[in-house]
Amino acid sequence: MRHRQDGDDVHDVHEGGAGGGERSARRDEAVRAAVEQGLLSRDVPLAGLLDVTGIRESAAELRAAFDAVVAPGTPVLHAFAVKAAPLVPVLRLLRDEGIGAEVASPGELALARAAGVAPERTVLDSPAKTPAELREALALGIAVNADNPQELERIDALMRSAPSRSPLGIRVNPQVGGGSIEALSTATATSKFGVALRDEGAREWVIRAYAERPWLTRLHAHTGSQGIPLSRMTEGVAAAYALAEEINRRIGRPQVDTIDIGGGLPVNFASEATTPTYTQYARMLKGAVPGLFDGRYGLVTEFGRSLLAKHGTVVARVEYAKSAGGRPVAVTHAGVQVATRTVYAPGSWPLRIAAYDAKGRPKEGPAVVQDVAGPACFAGDLLAEGRELPLLEQGDYAAALDTGAYYFAHHYAYNSLARPGIYGFVPDGAGGVAFATVRTPQTLDEIVAESGGAHAGTLAELPAPARE
Ligand SMILES: *Cc1c(COP(=O)(O)O)cnc(C)c1O
Repeated sequence: MRHRQDGDDVHDVHEGGAGGGERSARRDEAVRAAVEQGLLSRDVPLAGLLDVTGIRESAAELRAAFDAVVAPGTPVLHAFAVKAAPLVPVLRLLRDEGIGAEVASPGELALARAAGVAPERTVLDSPAKTPAELREALALGIAVNADNPQELERIDALMRSAPSRSPLGIRVNPQVGGGSIEALSTATATSKFGVALRDEGAREWVIRAYAERPWLTRLHAHTGSQGIPLSRMTEGVAAAYALAEEINRRIGRPQVDTIDIGGGLPVNFASEATTPTYTQYARMLKGAVPGLFDGRYGLVTEFGRSLLAKHGTVVARVEYAKSAGGRPVAVTHAGVQVATRTVYAPGSWPLRIAAYDAKGRPKEGPAVVQDVAGPACFAGDLLAEGRELPLLEQGDYAAALDTGAYYFAHHYAYNSLARPGIYGFVPDGAGGVAFATVRTPQTLDEIVAESGGAHAGTLAELPAPARE
């Protein structure tokens, strides 16, 4: 073990399992190489790094986990939830690893198409689809899960006007309850997503909707994301399966032929270990809902965070090391703009921080309680508060680990801080590290342009109201 994290994580590298130790070794090499190769420097104090080897391994684990539990020949589509890492090269990499795309906005669909993800490997799920979005999806043949009765009416009209090859379904909320993070719990009684299945009359409405529409062949439930226990996710899938069985029994034929079980596998942010694993989840599902895997249903999954989180690292230079009220504070270039959830809800989203020296080597030294702050102009802009780490000094680098999903790819434009560059890395086979650009750093001209730079005079030139 080469450098220490906070208390619980002291043994993380050795307990890594599932490639954890190799992953941290690859990360250390990549940080050092990023500094050596100038991706990080005095003038470029922030970058996101993606472990391409790790992403490939996770994609392979996902496919293997479900291949091991389904009947031979069962169609399985793993559609990556694009919102977790909306980066075209990542979507292309996943496509080449056999993973499709789950999209929830016109922007995400455009990214999936730019990455070359085929329409038949794309699923559209958003809660607020416009008529134009629905028309485009049906014209392309993309799978759509209707969120509510009004959306189903829109789809009815489109199906009357032109036939579509799109597999179509309804999203239901099994209302099995939430998890430890309210904002990410999609299966509470009053969640905004899908048809609330336990509400008065809802189940009958869903069954009738299928009976009246032979083209409704899918059923979708996504029970939540980070913070939902596996057992609750399993209950949600079991509820969707039971509903599919009931629909097919009542209609008298296997009209629902595919169940979309959503994503939501939680990620362990406390240590290097990958836990729970796709294999554990797939086995738990098979134990609880064996009929889902007996070959009568195709499967769609929509994992996001669990495919990417552990393969991303945001690395920030320590601009200044100071002390306040007796506590050391490292002022870095990573804060709310790249770790929005952690900064605003630190209790729900703690991140591990690793310390590297000015040459990008893991920093040694006794653990010192310190704050790791970001660059934004508000007091709460902290990546970590009161954390034990080797003392960060000016010119060192602080790395926020497990940030490959919903972090540095999710820029928040506070203080007009620039979006950092993102680079994928692999060992180059000769003891070094090869990088590929995923996203170039945002330029100041781009910031001005997207902040109304082309319209500089428009407000000042509006006529002033005549004074009374
Ligand atoms: C967000 C979302 C996902 C992915 O959730 P993760 O927790 O990132 O796996 C999948 N499906 C739907 C409908 C979602 O909204």
